[in-house]
Amino acid sequence: MKELSIYIHIPFCIRKCLYCDFLSFPAEIGNYVNLLCREISSSAPEYQQYQVVSVFLGGGTPSVLPAMDISLIMETIRDNYRISQDIEVTMEMNPGTVDEDKLRQYITAGMNRISIGLQSADDEELLRIGRIHDYQTFLRTYELARRVGFHNINIDIMSALPGQSVVSYERTLRAVTSLEPEHISAYSLILEEGTPLYERQYEYSFPTEEEDREMYSLTKDFLSSCGYHRYEISNYAREGYECCHNKVYWQRGDYVGFGLGASSMVRNVRWKNPEDLTLYEAYVYRQEDMCVPDRQILTEKEQMEEYMFLGLRMMCGVNRQGFARTFGRQIEEAYGEIPDRLCRQGLLAQDKNNMMLTELGIDVSNYVFAQFLFD
Ligand code: SF4
Repeated sequence: MKELSIYIHIPFCIRKCLYCDFLSFPAEIGNYVNLLCREISSSAPEYQQYQVVSVFLGGGTPSVLPAMDISLIMETIRDNYRISQDIEVTMEMNPGTVDEDKLRQYITAGMNRISIGLQSADDEELLRIGRIHDYQTFLRTYELARRVGFHNINIDIMSALPGQSVVSYERTLRAVTSLEPEHISAYSLILEEGTPLYERQYEYSFPTEEEDREMYSLTKDFLSSCGYHRYEISNYAREGYECCHNKVYWQRGDYVGFGLGASSMVRNVRWKNPEDLTLYEAYVYRQEDMCVPDRQILTEKEQMEEYMFLGLRMMCGVNRQGFARTFGRQIEEAYGEIPDRLCRQGLLAQDKNNMMLTELGIDVSNYVFAQFLFD
């Protein structure tokens, strides 16, 4: 039976963080959950041949929803889809948005993995990027989650924050690893145009390029010395705790997204739900043809491009046999001398089975990915 992953978008946040350009906003939840459940159930007939292997509730801040709503969403999925026995169900949450009772209800609803957005253990850094919590609030949420029985927890951290130093970043790494979460995502802040932090960037001092690189090396070395293996450019896990859901994206598995602005890719067809609530509502009720998202059928070349640049994000790289099975030819037949040239430049390494980025290749990964684009 084919495998399917489900992404659920909850676009609500208590307050917008200053660096955030995700589709999220502080607003009344209104009838959003009903719309979502309607979309989930009415789409189910398309996926009768599939078994759901992972569900990811992301946002926004899914934990701002009452626990009853989360239960309703999960019940709707279970009632309408075939579910794998060892399904991974992740929910993103922000510190301070849950209490013990809520967390217990999440477990009852079927959550078996949570992802907590900490970003930094330094309260001033948190304040500067507009997070709603301080470190103590995060600690209470984390400890509560452990106490109620979550055995698979991810913590998100960020480097290159305004006012951050290598020393303060190391303190964050120490604080996080001392809690022994199963998974750590470590991203570098990207200043997105249009965000308040972008507009006010000249008011802050950001780490220099050199410090940025130092933080990057520190992340790899420190996390590895604490027993976390890096399995994707920015993701680290204890043995056996890699995130199944994210691997589906990188390995181009089939996934369907429900909710405002959610993206899907099933059988090499991509589409994206409307980003406007009124249009989304009209789409869910199929009231107007203009609200139905365009479906983009990926050409073979586009599929190969994605296979390469998504697969290369993973430390194990892309699998040669997998490529040959999918496209009926070897990577070299499709890309000529490009892989060899990248190997000679020290950016790619390869063995009999896989082709992967080297350390140098990770540093210039965007350049390497671009080499696999056809014109
Ligand atoms: S919590 Fe996440 S989604 Fe919400 S505003 Fe902050 S960064 Fe954006």
